[in-house]
Amino acid sequence: MVVGVLVQLSSQNVDKIFDYLVPKELENSIQIGIRVLVPFGRQTLEGFVLEIKDSSSLELKEVYSVVDQDIVLNDELLELGKVIQKDTLSTLISAYQVMLPKALKAKAGSTVHKKFHTFYRLRQNDYVARSLSQKKILELFHDRDEIPREELVSISSSSLSTLVEKGVLFSVQKEDYRMKYEINQDSKKTLTSLQQQVVDAVIHGSVEQPFLLFGVTGSGKTEVYMHIIEHVLEEGKTAIILVPEISLTPQMVEQFSNRFGNQIAALHSALSEGEKYDEWRRIARGEASIVIGARSAIFAPLKNIGVIIIDEEHSDSYKQSDKNPRYHARDIAIWRAKYHHCPVLLGSATPSLESMARAQKGVYQLLTLRERVNGKKLPKVEIIDMNQEAKKSSSHLTVQLLNEINDCIDRGEQAILFLNRRGFSTFVTCKNCAETIKCPHCDITLTYHKSNRMLRCHYCGYATPLPKVCPNCHEEALSDLGVGTEKIEEELHQLLPYAKVLRMDVDTTSRKGAHKKMIEAFRNHEYDILLGTQIVAKGLDFSLVTLVGVINADTSLNIPDFRSSENTYSLLSQVAGRSGRSEKSGKVLIQTFNPDHYAISFVKNHDYLGFYHEEMIIRKKLGYPPFYYLCYVKVSGKDVSYLFQEALKIKRSLERNLTHTIILGPTSLAVFRVNNIYRYGIILKYKREENLRDILSKIQNHYKTNSKVRIDIDFSPSHF
Ligand code: ADP
Ligand code: ZN
Repeated sequence: MVVGVLVQLSSQNVDKIFDYLVPKELENSIQIGIRVLVPFGRQTLEGFVLEIKDSSSLELKEVYSVVDQDIVLNDELLELGKVIQKDTLSTLISAYQVMLPKALKAKAGSTVHKKFHTFYRLRQNDYVARSLSQKKILELFHDRDEIPREELVSISSSSLSTLVEKGVLFSVQKEDYRMKYEINQDSKKTLTSLQQQVVDAVIHGSVEQPFLLFGVTGSGKTEVYMHIIEHVLEEGKTAIILVPEISLTPQMVEQFSNRFGNQIAALHSALSEGEKYDEWRRIARGEASIVIGARSAIFAPLKNIGVIIIDEEHSDSYKQSDKNPRYHARDIAIWRAKYHHCPVLLGSATPSLESMARAQKGVYQLLTLRERVNGKKLPKVEIIDMNQEAKKSSSHLTVQLLNEINDCIDRGEQAILFLNRRGFSTFVTCKNCAETIKCPHCDITLTYHKSNRMLRCHYCGYATPLPKVCPNCHEEALSDLGVGTEKIEEELHQLLPYAKVLRMDVDTTSRKGAHKKMIEAFRNHEYDILLGTQIVAKGLDFSLVTLVGVINADTSLNIPDFRSSENTYSLLSQVAGRSGRSEKSGKVLIQTFNPDHYAISFVKNHDYLGFYHEEMIIRKKLGYPPFYYLCYVKVSGKDVSYLFQEALKIKRSLERNLTHTIILGPTSLAVFRVNNIYRYGIILKYKREENLRDILSKIQNHYKTNSKVRIDIDFSPSHF
């Protein structure tokens, strides 16, 4: 027996399938889609078996061993990988790797992730603890039968050894699934007739075209999803539901867990690699039937899929933009749904322009939930013109907003304040010489983080203490401008000293479990105000929140990107949607320097369709999606003048070869240099261009061996 093996080389640019001979004793374990260890030059590498052949005339090296008992890539995923390779111009190996949890993407020679776990159980009940840590360890056994080793080691590994030596504890090896989902206090609702219509349409309708559920915030989409999934499970099938990473709040997992218990498996970045691997294995073995997760959960190895749901379908977190393969989870969902003959349901209160345009054209089937559940009104939105306010005061919190917050707290209710910038200030400048402090590695200003008096680059992570004097003129005249969440927190403490403020952003939620704890604390009304970045904008459902304040609506509007209005509209509507979701009616205050901008006025009127039509006119005029497809070619490297020459060459070659494509650039990216790498972009706009992928692929190959130029190709980029 001979196998064709796609080896996992550490250099990601090459796809190689090599033939290996299978020793007799391994023949029975070989299957397509399994991982094997093979000799490769002087190295030992892991690879996927993609072909099985009878014989080959060549002298071949032998497979060393089989890595897993089960296949890791089933037929469907093997086929899907080839589609991704072709559509995104990535390597086949990267397409397969993106489907698997990291624990399975072994580097050469690394060991397989441990499948077994050590637990300890109590043997002797009457032992008297000799130390505080022994006591702490034994106390854990009061209400639990067995406890994982790590947990005990974290108390004291020496006490643990002592207790084992003395025979008080003994160890058991267990295959441990780290994640447990408990069914409890499920708040299952009887659907309204409008919700029921949506459910019926999806479960009885045609699977030929995806469904787009356009449902305002609070219209009960989650309940609709859960009912559909229940139906799918009753039919003996499985389901995937994707949620954007940022709003993959414990809330959603909790709601699903309360109803479906251990039938669910969750895949998201808050899990450790080991936990992800556990979840993945439960899915692969058919022990979980509902996968709930962020982007890459779309590759979950479920069999017999009955529905694929993408919540907040407009979210750009569904596009992998930062590395290959640059795929969109929506495309993968549609492909997999075809494979399984099941429906795809895309849901959003603010669908992406592309999706709504497809729905209008009948490419998607449009389903609408125009109103909140039980007729609750959408919150009243007021716009505060900061051009006027800024003349009166330098505070970032207007009197009107402060008064509303004050009243809200007086009524015993809660407020959410949103600002799309973390840190204290956006930049530090010198009042004397006007010098602005920039990152030494990137073309971007540093952000001041007051809590630890550091200046930080949000692009490359560079950090340095805030200098006492200006590095340019050496005067003590540095002052911070712009505003971040930290500064607002400080202003709130000064202006509303009695209010309890909870700040939630990347800086305060980086510790594992912090996010979940904060949400619980806010729900328990331990705080009056939840202040945060995007993290507070989406998906949260707190019944006591009746006021939402947007500190500065302009941050996302000022980004030079064709999607900036769309993103602003959707972000503001989403955050506005957090207000007044329960019995009490809600209010939203938006502070902005662009009160007349159409994106903002349509938010005021909750008029998504109005925004959609206006934005479509602009997109058409400027030749942007959904009227044109875009492809972004990023050319990057350290040697800026050489790089520009090469970028020009690429452009010329594209011009020679593409007849129906508009080619723009090369232009430097908005942040030209990041981590000392310069970046140029070439934008391609086209409606139909048969040869595009071939031509781009040739260019890509041409530069494969050129270490001074890196080419990244992104079809349908979510932003530039
Ligand atoms: P969306 O995801 O559309 O913003 P949710 O699914 O979060 O809305 O629902 C908003 C609120 O309405 C939730 O608190 C939910 O429990 C409640 N809800 C949903 N469906 C019903 C129903 N049929 N009857 C009563 N309450 C409902
Ligand atoms: Zn930097």
